[in-house]
Amino acid sequence: MAKAEKKGKKPHKNKPTSKKYTKYKIEGDKITRAKSCPRCGPGVFLADSNNKLYCGKCHYSEFTEGKKE
Ligand SMILES: [Zn+2]
Repeated sequence: MAKAEKKGKKPHKNKPTSKKYTKYKIEGDKITRAKSCPRCGPGVFLADSNNKLYCGKCHYSEFTEGKKE
């Protein structure tokens, strides 16, 4: 995962279907698929990396292998 986004002069485009957001489906006030970090709490999502979930904040990682989607 890339480091923090640089605050550069890149033009910001509002893409409704950014790849980033395809991970985070919000239904009502429940967030599916994207899992929140059990340590950092809701709002801090775990990055999906191969069959691992990883928190970039506290470095928590969790295996998702064998999990149903
Ligand atoms: Zn965390």
